Amino acid sequence: MAVNAKGLWQRVREGDEKSAARLISLIEEGGDEGRRQLSCLFPFTGNAHVIGITGPPGVGKSTITGGLAGAFSDRGKKVGVVAVDPTSVHGTGALLADRLRMKDAENKGVFIRSMAHRGYAGGVARATAGAVYVLEGLGKETILVESMGTGQSEKDLSFLCDTMVLVFSPDYGDDMQLLKAGLLEIGDILVVNKSDRPGAENARLALCLAASRRPGTDGWTVPVLVMRADRDEGLPGLIEAIEAHWRLISDGHKERLRREKGLAFMRALLKEEVWRRFEAAMKASKACTSVTEAATARKIDPYGAVQRILEKAAFSIGEETHGGQGGHD
Ligand code: GDP
Repeated sequence: MAVNAKGLWQRVREGDEKSAARLISLIEEGGDEGRRQLSCLFPFTGNAHVIGITGPPGVGKSTITGGLAGAFSDRGKKVGVVAVDPTSVHGTGALLADRLRMKDAENKGVFIRSMAHRGYAGGVARATAGAVYVLEGLGKETILVESMGTGQSEKDLSFLCDTMVLVFSPDYGDDMQLLKAGLLEIGDILVVNKSDRPGAENARLALCLAASRRPGTDGWTVPVLVMRADRDEGLPGLIEAIEAHWRLISDGHKERLRREKGLAFMRALLKEEVWRRFEAAMKASKACTSVTEAATARKIDPYGAVQRILEKAAFSIGEETHGGQGGHD
């Protein structure tokens, strides 16, 4: 069992937020200790409503997340927020606005954890999932996960969430990128924020069209909502939609959805971990390095190079996994 951080997960269970913050840091570091603590905490998770808020930078995600956190807290819910990379993409003005809004929520007892987007030993998805589990272990009933909608990692994060809110605004071409990237399919609720900006109605119509082409899932019709988050306009409608979605899945198919998402998430974690180990094994192997060099110098073809690298590195991956038994068959 735990050596350095003995009892950390129990203290989290008792509601100690400092211990929760420490455990999240341990998980971010990606070592064995964090993993051990998390597996002790895991049986106490699975009861919270996990809500993802995603979209391109600057559309108003933090403002919406702060507003939702405060509103759920006002309704008597124990609320936690995991904000992935709220700092590196913002100008200072936006950052101040976020902080003020989040500060309001924090003053209402909301536990807020910010996570940088890069630099985790085990990858973003794994670190964020860990933070969500810790907040659940801490007894949070509503957990908001705010993240940028830029690619695959958002799809991975959607496997963690029961309800996904996709946020768009009229003034970003990036929104269309998001549609192209196929992220629309992960949204349960679509929001056009910044209704005060020109083009809001066009953005709403475009989203309604896109949503109407999406096949309905399990009796849920994806709503398209319009908001002005900096003035909390439209917030009650968003809360209503989130609660309606939660009621619908809780009444019917929450267990199945969670099983499906759980499997998809585990595969994403496995992919992340296998690739991390494979890269490390490749870097450590002189034989792999010389194959790579030969391939880049066009002395051998890339297909043959990949085959040789696989043969040489597969053994090392197995070793790390099985404690020296070797892993290839
Ligand atoms: P994020 O990057 O998606 O998290 O976006 P933020 O929540 O940080 O918002 C970016 C900026 O847009 C901030 O300055 C907000 O105050 C502002 N903002 C948020 N909602 C609205 C809105 O509905 N209308 C306008 N005009 N500005 C907004």
